[in-house]
Amino acid sequence: MTAQLIDGNAIAAHIRAEVAHRTAALQARGIRPRLAIVLVGDDPASQVYVKHKANDSTQTGLVADLERYPAIFPEAELLARIHALNADPAVHGILVQLPLPKHMDAHRVIEAIAPAKDVDGFHVANAGALLVGRPGFRPCTPYGCMKMLEHIGCELAGRHAVVIGRSNIVGKPMALLLLQKNATVTICHSATRDLAAITQQADVIVAAVGRRNLVTADMVKPGAVVIDVGMNRDADGKLCGDVDFAGVREVAGWITPVPGGVGPMTRAMLLVNTIEAAERAAAHPTPG
Ligand code: NAD
Repeated sequence: MTAQLIDGNAIAAHIRAEVAHRTAALQARGIRPRLAIVLVGDDPASQVYVKHKANDSTQTGLVADLERYPAIFPEAELLARIHALNADPAVHGILVQLPLPKHMDAHRVIEAIAPAKDVDGFHVANAGALLVGRPGFRPCTPYGCMKMLEHIGCELAGRHAVVIGRSNIVGKPMALLLLQKNATVTICHSATRDLAAITQQADVIVAAVGRRNLVTADMVKPGAVVIDVGMNRDADGKLCGDVDFAGVREVAGWITPVPGGVGPMTRAMLLVNTIEAAERAAAHPTPG
């Protein structure tokens, strides 16, 4: 069997078109959806990410304000800047690019963002809302993975989903989103024993570790859906995921490529969260 490809670029393009439509509807009412992107320091990967996020935003009609601060920027000043953005009714979404410089407490910084503007979905209020099944912003990467599963018509109720990785931004929220859809969820992590024995039982595997070739063909049940979140470099410096794509595609039913899989979906879901934030603000304007 050769797996069908889940084309993240194509699905993301549909999602961006929908966001553009919703943005136009708000603009017609005189509202300009606005995302503030805050970058502290000069991490090369972060610089590329924020540029992509800003470009994606403007291409869908959202206004993106990119604010850059030096690595030595004091945390107190960053917190003050976030408070100002929280209080500004023209700003609908706030994203602080991670990682932050070592002298900053990332938790404290993220907790400073108003939950209603936390379009990354990292604030504990949004994490808690996901845990108890209340509305809130979902972290973009697992949210994008769910959209991919939805797009291929993957029925999750009663199926066994195995999430490899337990980070707060990918693994844990991914597991909760799958659980919300009534999947039977197993979370594997660095201390898991006999990973292969668990993944072999999975109808859906989501790999979010950051280790090349972690998931090989012998670990996958024939016909399973394999979502590869990992972002690694192979020996030639080419971008690759956690899944041995060439081997696993011969066993799986569906598979995401890297690049062109989860990455573009993550970017698209940030736009969805931002337009959602702007629509909610428009529905419940703060008294001025
Ligand atoms: P992380 O380092 O915070 O978490 C990695 C997780 O993998 C940990 O929970 C750890 O317990 C687990 N792990 C480590 N070794 C393991 C092993 N041998 N077996 C099973 N589990 C193991 O990373 P993260 O932020 O969750 O990101 C994971 C990967 O996803 C990275 O490659 C990252 O670059 C990528 N990522 C991609 C996107 C995207 O948009 N495509 C977004 C976010 C993260």
